Amino acid sequence: MSHLQITGLGGDRRDIASETLDTFAAGLGGQLLHPDDEGFAEATLLWNGMIKKRPAIVIRPQSTDDVVRTINFVRDNELEVSIRGGGHNIAGLALSDGGITLDMSPMKAVEVDVEARLARVGPGCNLGDVDRATQEHGLAAGLGFVSATGVAGLTLGGGFGYLTRRFGWTVDDLEEVEIVTADGAVQRASRTAHEDLFWALRGGGGNFGVVTEFVFRLHEVGPQVMGGLIAWPASEAEGVLDLYRKTVESAPPELTAVVLRRNAPPAPWLPESAHGTPIIVMVVCHSGDLQQAQADLAPIKSHGEPLADLIGVKDYVAQQTLLDATQPKGMHYYWKSEFLPGLSDDLFATYNAQFVDLKAPANQIVLFHIAGALSDHAEDDGAMGNREAALACVIQSMWAPESGAGDANRDWVRSAWEALKPYSTGGNYVNFQTDDETDERTVESYRDNYKRLAAIKSKYDPSNLFRVNRNIPP
Ligand SMILES: Cc1cc2nc3c(=O)[nH]c(=O)nc-3n(C[C@H](O)[C@H](O)[C@H](O)COP(=O)(O)OP(=O)(O)OC[C@H]3O[C@@H](n4cnc5c(N)ncnc54)[C@H](O)[C@@H]3O)c2cc1C
Repeated sequence: MSHLQITGLGGDRRDIASETLDTFAAGLGGQLLHPDDEGFAEATLLWNGMIKKRPAIVIRPQSTDDVVRTINFVRDNELEVSIRGGGHNIAGLALSDGGITLDMSPMKAVEVDVEARLARVGPGCNLGDVDRATQEHGLAAGLGFVSATGVAGLTLGGGFGYLTRRFGWTVDDLEEVEIVTADGAVQRASRTAHEDLFWALRGGGGNFGVVTEFVFRLHEVGPQVMGGLIAWPASEAEGVLDLYRKTVESAPPELTAVVLRRNAPPAPWLPESAHGTPIIVMVVCHSGDLQQAQADLAPIKSHGEPLADLIGVKDYVAQQTLLDATQPKGMHYYWKSEFLPGLSDDLFATYNAQFVDLKAPANQIVLFHIAGALSDHAEDDGAMGNREAALACVIQSMWAPESGAGDANRDWVRSAWEALKPYSTGGNYVNFQTDDETDERTVESYRDNYKRLAAIKSKYDPSNLFRVNRNIPP
């Protein structure tokens, strides 16, 4: 009898008879894909080209019933399962190596209830799918900065973006989820049903089951905002960082400003003479009244002599794709992150010191201003916590697979991270953790909420079926 070898829960290789697989597949509305099947390559291609994992098979569910069937199958056969949303996780958590990957991308429905101001979102959606559907009604959920990112992974790890200062973490707008837990049961969790599970899902990652629907509260946003980016030569860094600090200290919640230093890409919006030279960039989004936005952004637009100023009125949906081209799929990526309580001269000096003689074409350190509505909630309102964070700091490197620059870039990121870590709140963003982060880093992401998360994991997933994630062991 023929069989397929599939990675088991303990990392062992298990023989699964073809007949057993066929019986399982026959009951699926969706697809079971083997490596040679059409669609397998697409389902296993991740944003971070550095990840080399390959599942034995991919399941593409059409419905919650398909997910239940798959979870019962992997549990009964003690097989490793991973869940793929948008495939953007830098650590490659979407894929099981040799096991089964549940690729949620076919479940892509977005249903907007304009009157109730709610969106029902399928777990296969990326941010752009949701932004486009909600903006048809002048509404938005608070999602992230790059439109190809998966809603599922972003939300389950907490989520932040241009609207965080107004509405909090993405999970602060989460009203309800439908989830298939390890026992194969379909639950609806909210603030009034399975409250403990819902609390854990608001930041605790993919540890608790397969989410088959997210329900988000929506807000009136746009459809036009004032946003874009502005770039100066890095020789002006000191003045620009000072301006950034003033902006952060005085900005209304409608204004989010991001600052980053890097070497200039060969982008058409920059003068050719600047390509490859050190620059400092501010990315802004003002989602309030447009006249007020113009006034609030005037000090930024009139500062110094920018190389390029692309700040203007644009559709919110366009603002949400502004940074897409800077994050191409398939390149190699390595990041580290910390949450920061604020800005200081010392921090800026340390920040600037990381760029002396930096030759890498795409390495950057990004500071995202996120303070505001986060602190309207108690620290233990949801697993995400980290509500004293004023900024998220992300040290990022990107290189072409064939460039051979991996070791040098990873060393640069680690060294900049060591230098900047003393300015951290002590917390870091679980969704930015790479595959070489220690378990201790995961504990640090949740801090005081970790113990409670582990207890909820024990209740809903005692055998740790959902372990291809930043794992919280039961
Ligand atoms: C270019 C880029 C930009 C980013 N920008 C932001 C940003 O602005 N704000 C922000 O907050 N984050 C941002 N992130 C981080 C992002 O939130 C994480 O990478 C997140 O994991 C991506 O989700 P995904 O669905 O694409 O990931 P995947 O790699 O598909 O999955 C990641 C994890 O989520 C779990 N998961 C996925 N779907 C489900 C499901 N249906 N049920 C249960 N678990 C599930 C998986 O188990 C896995 O552990 C960015 C990442 C990238 C690469």
